[in-house]
Amino acid sequence: MRTRPNIDSIALDTPKSIRRFNAEYSTLAVDKHNVPIVRALIARLFTQQLHKSLNLKALTELYRKELHKRGVDVPVTLILRKKPAEVLQDEVAIRIDFYKSPVIIKANLVSKPWLFRHNLLPALVSFLLILLTGGSLWYISVIIRRQLKLDRLKNEFISNITHELRTPLTILRSSNEAIAMFNVASDPEKLARYTGINSAVLLKLETEVERIMDISLIETNLYREDIKQINLHQLLSEIIQRFNIDEIGKIKLINEYPSILIFTDPYKIDTILSNLLDNALKYSGSDVSVLIEIFFAKNTWELKVTDTGKGISNEDLPLIFDKFYRVNTGDLHDIKGYGLGLSHVKGLVKSLKGKIDVKSKVGHGTIFTLKFPK
Ligand code: ADP
Repeated sequence: MRTRPNIDSIALDTPKSIRRFNAEYSTLAVDKHNVPIVRALIARLFTQQLHKSLNLKALTELYRKELHKRGVDVPVTLILRKKPAEVLQDEVAIRIDFYKSPVIIKANLVSKPWLFRHNLLPALVSFLLILLTGGSLWYISVIIRRQLKLDRLKNEFISNITHELRTPLTILRSSNEAIAMFNVASDPEKLARYTGINSAVLLKLETEVERIMDISLIETNLYREDIKQINLHQLLSEIIQRFNIDEIGKIKLINEYPSILIFTDPYKIDTILSNLLDNALKYSGSDVSVLIEIFFAKNTWELKVTDTGKGISNEDLPLIFDKFYRVNTGDLHDIKGYGLGLSHVKGLVKSLKGKIDVKSKVGHGTIFTLKFPK
């Protein structure tokens, strides 16, 4: 005798392993509707007699076939649990009373790789969405921080510019009052001195205003580029000469290429170098020296401005090209400026398809390297 896996509710044997045993049979009439119960009873008797455990593998196979017939193609494994308490609410399980103490057969409906495969796409989409949301939040925070910084820098710019304007205005007002009150008109020497002061102050103001207007002109693309062939050595010498009127001998052009001609916009090169030299002198002690070097390669030419000034810290270095950025020196306006020079220089270098690079060491000095296509 054997149980029949495809008919009996509980299969004890696989179809391949058939056990024989002797028994005495007596015929017994069983109502048709009682046959399943009798079958289960006999199966239970056998298991108890043979101390044979359930063939879970065969049972799993049958269960899968049954599910397949109903169109459910989920990999299922059946597992045995001794404690009924281990069955959770939504689990598929059945209680078996074959043994002395009841056991639970539980259908593990999903295997991990299957779960993984079937959930991979939604998981990936969710992951991407999370990433996108996180990225957007991060980007928004970056923009907000940038805006806040710009706002702070703009305020500083306004405070700087009003400070810069107030000083010459005070000088102009005082000398004007002096001319009016002390009858200076009758003293030609004094009159010349006061008007001289006024002219110098007005000239300085004019230069400052022009500098700011220049920046806006180039930034709004209203400036007409004027590329022509120039003698670089000559141009640099002129600029250096202009600076050396006040700062005698502090700026030197080291290597000389008097005859080489290049195509560029001389006005832009003048503005770039003037800004760099102005900074090199501004942010240094009195015994500073500034060296300018020119290098020519096959397709490029390079300008190197090295100063022995106070240098820029590593924290400030990446920010000095930002508009309105000034290295924080407390609330002192000891060195005048609007934080526009280097951002303007960077814009000009870019407009000439060049690159600007800076290296600096606090207490030692700063090197600006500019590279342009020939
Ligand atoms: P400004 O000079 O008007 O403040 P810049 O954009 O020209 O603005 O320079 C930005 C900052 O970079 C300056 O505030 C200054 O602290 C620093 N800096 C620029 N050039 C030098 C230099 N050669 N040596 C030391 N610090 C410099």
